[in-house]
Amino acid sequence: GSCDIGIIGMAVMGQNLALNIARKGFQVAVFNRTASRTDELMKRVEKESIVPTYTLKEFVASLKKPRKAMLMVKAGAAVDEFIDKLLELLEPGDLIIDGGNSFYQDTERRIKKVEKQGLLFLGTGISGGEYGALHGPSIMPGGHEEGYALVKEIFEKAAAQVEDGPCCTYLGPRSAGHFVKMVHNGIEYAFMQAIAEAYDLLRKAYRLSSEAIGKIFEEFNQSEIASYLIEITAKIFKVSDPETRKPLVELILDQAEQKGTGKWTSQTAFDFGVPTPVINQSVIARTISSFKQERVQFASLWKNKEAAPINFDEQHKEKIKDALFVSMVVAFSEGLHLLKVASQEMQYGLSLPEVVRIWKGGCILRARMLNQIQQALQNGEGEILLFSPTFLNEIQRRTPKLREIVALSIEKEIPASVLSTSLAYLDSWKSENLPANLIQAQRDFFGAHTYQRVDKEGVFHTIWEE
Ligand code: NDP
Repeated sequence: GSCDIGIIGMAVMGQNLALNIARKGFQVAVFNRTASRTDELMKRVEKESIVPTYTLKEFVASLKKPRKAMLMVKAGAAVDEFIDKLLELLEPGDLIIDGGNSFYQDTERRIKKVEKQGLLFLGTGISGGEYGALHGPSIMPGGHEEGYALVKEIFEKAAAQVEDGPCCTYLGPRSAGHFVKMVHNGIEYAFMQAIAEAYDLLRKAYRLSSEAIGKIFEEFNQSEIASYLIEITAKIFKVSDPETRKPLVELILDQAEQKGTGKWTSQTAFDFGVPTPVINQSVIARTISSFKQERVQFASLWKNKEAAPINFDEQHKEKIKDALFVSMVVAFSEGLHLLKVASQEMQYGLSLPEVVRIWKGGCILRARMLNQIQQALQNGEGEILLFSPTFLNEIQRRTPKLREIVALSIEKEIPASVLSTSLAYLDSWKSENLPANLIQAQRDFFGAHTYQRVDKEGVFHTIWEE
């Protein structure tokens, strides 16, 4: 065969990635279970060198040796099915890449299986959605380093480019790439929920129109919270429904769906003993939203009263922006903390400045503040981002504003659980004393779990009640 790489899975991501790679001068073989999707892609092909194949045998035969076969299929069983089929057709030295959002423990299992047969494996996270896949995503590969060498040129050319290089780098062994992508998605959940809460306050506490809210987000996108998610939020408010002419966003059912990557981040953070409350809360917020019928019912039982709106001015705008800034830093801090601990436990050897660097372009998480974060990490400023002198000042200055916004949400009875959790998280970290002494006393009371003391060494147990 003559193809430099092959891609299996011609849904949104696979099609666009195939076109992107082909536009960088590589020949790409493609395959999809359902042939119509392959045909769909071929209709989009202009000058690109793309070879459509309709059986896996044909697909494998079209690849240059050592063969590089990349899966862009739905995470889960489909990935295992294709790996099993490919193992029958490929030879030792060939490479299988899983470019989907696979759970990192699945990747651990798969890499063992593939390597037993003498093949190479890369578990690769890809961020940037449809647009990124076509114009340059952020690519997060992990697995066999020899495998990365085989696709380095392709990946680095296909990736988004920023001033300090392509948004792709070899992250580490085994599931390092998929772990980083999972945490990326957890942070993404938190950003999205924080932005949604800001929107909720703007429309409910200040009664601003969607049009006015769009303008505010447009301004935010020129500020220190400039980021991809703020940018698309501003754009969303500009789109109206062709039939009703109302802002389309107002017609969308308020039930957030999820594919599980945020939940995995939270579950994993619990497993590694890292507190990620803002990420956790953003998963919970989506889950609560899914109970639409029940919420409607409860709202009628509660008999909500509408509060009088507040006048909106520049000061309020600044406060909301500052609240979002702090929440975003906290979300990054939580995610990076998890990556730091996981890197030690899993022996990934992650370079956090590199992780942040490849998030700067093409990525759903791309944000102006990532430059500062990268700098802080490069300077080795603190184990946890919040502790870095750079961010400590930035956050300390803005936290009173976050506090005011959270107070407003409480007063107006508008749920802002991610914004308030960001605040509680900061308040917890900055508490020299937490009430965990009482928890320890309770544990010792009912379960003789023992406790330590602040005034002397040792382990103690008390008979609290005769
Ligand atoms: P989907 O996750 O919707 O998956 C659809 C593709 O998987 C189709 O090619 C489909 O084939 C194939 N597939 C599903 N089940 C099977 C099966 N049992 N056997 C064979 N093929 C199967 O596609 P996306 O393009 O959205 O995403 C691809 C991967 O990239 C996913 O892991 C996703 O999580 C990840 N990702 C997606 C992003 C996005 O913005 N959409 C962003 C970043 C990552 P068929 O056409 O025959 O049904």
